[in-house]
Amino acid sequence: MGRSRTDEVEDLMARFPGVPREAVIKEDLLRGGIAFDAEALTGDENGSVKPKSYFIFSFDHGTLPELGAAALNRPPEEIVLTGGPYGLRRTVVSVRVNPNSPYRVGVTPDGTLGLMLDGRHIADVGLPPMPDYYRHALANGKSVMEVAPTIQWGYLIYLTVFRVCQYFGAKEECQYCDINHNWRQHKAAGRPYTGVKSVEEVLEALEIIDKHDTTGASRAYTLTGGSITSQVKGLGEADFYGRYAQAIEERFPGRWIGKVVAQALPKEDVQRFHDYGIRIYHPNYEVWDRRLFELYCPGKERYVGRDEWHRRILDSAEIFGPRNVIPNFVAGVEMAAPAGFTTVDEAISSTEEGLRYFMSRGITPRFTTWCPEPTTPLGKQNPAGAPLEYHIRLLETYRGTMEEFGLSSPPGYGPAGAGRAVFSVSSFMDSLPEGMQGAED
Ligand code: SF4
Repeated sequence: MGRSRTDEVEDLMARFPGVPREAVIKEDLLRGGIAFDAEALTGDENGSVKPKSYFIFSFDHGTLPELGAAALNRPPEEIVLTGGPYGLRRTVVSVRVNPNSPYRVGVTPDGTLGLMLDGRHIADVGLPPMPDYYRHALANGKSVMEVAPTIQWGYLIYLTVFRVCQYFGAKEECQYCDINHNWRQHKAAGRPYTGVKSVEEVLEALEIIDKHDTTGASRAYTLTGGSITSQVKGLGEADFYGRYAQAIEERFPGRWIGKVVAQALPKEDVQRFHDYGIRIYHPNYEVWDRRLFELYCPGKERYVGRDEWHRRILDSAEIFGPRNVIPNFVAGVEMAAPAGFTTVDEAISSTEEGLRYFMSRGITPRFTTWCPEPTTPLGKQNPAGAPLEYHIRLLETYRGTMEEFGLSSPPGYGPAGAGRAVFSVSSFMDSLPEGMQGAED
């Protein structure tokens, strides 16, 4: 008889006692998704639970038509896990739907929600309440959830102001990215999904959040969207994304920490981001290995090239300060067939080389856990994603490398530590020691 997923999870918990148990479960949920019983879904925008907003990518293991009930009634944006046989401390997990997952959220016999693994109850499940600001529409009828959704339990306002990427088609799109497909599927389903958000509607949505977020949970905003290789609305990438920050900072000076996820741009453009009021820059390097970057990010390789991309990341530290340059990589694609590493050892050692390259210069990368969306080339060929062991060892390596170079957790991510972290699309913040965080948070 093969090993069950429970055996695999418990084996890793035993082998890596330095990684919180919470992170083992969270990584497994992020890489493989969660099935939802119909009763655990939300009432969309009319219910009492905060629904999944599809803030940039689909982050699902099926297309909307394949998700069944979860396509009609949205799942929650995030869930929070506690208790169970592993005694989990409060753990916030972004929801990625997979009807075939061995993890299932459903109603337990006592009427509360629980997370089952292989049919056994392993945690109590809490759902995010519908925020007050989601109950108010903009003057043009659009919802705040569509224009300015919040994630990370309300900490981060996620402003995907350009819903598509100009790297288009098989020869340019990153091989793990479904931004363009996700836009098409929402349009096909008749859901509101604005291709380019106007500065005015973003400001109006922020006005509503500012007014109704009475507990001050929202602390940061991220401006992002697809790459711009020519122009959008007559503007290049730095000015297109930067002018939102300019307008936000004019209207709400210092209310939130401003971040931008964009390409690694030439220094003059990066300076413009800073001048517009952005404080944290995410020029994502996606995957460290040269061969894999060239294969997985053909558009970025063609337009900029890996070496230049890395040079620009280092240059941007002179403008933002190394602490505030936080490039992301997609953890797990290193092990995607057919081109990826075939052993966890090789994948970790390559990823560690990248971490050391940046951390030795005071720049702290961060990562999201790869969700193998089925409409992407890598997701199609690797529906199970990367091995769980890779993700667990990465957490250990990340923390170890950070400590070696005397760095603390990056700013703009909320509190660190198991039981306290709110960052929901990887468990790097759950795995860092409690109290390790930037003064900005
Ligand atoms: S640059 Fe790559 S990862 Fe970013 S949106 Fe475009 S295709 Fe997706």
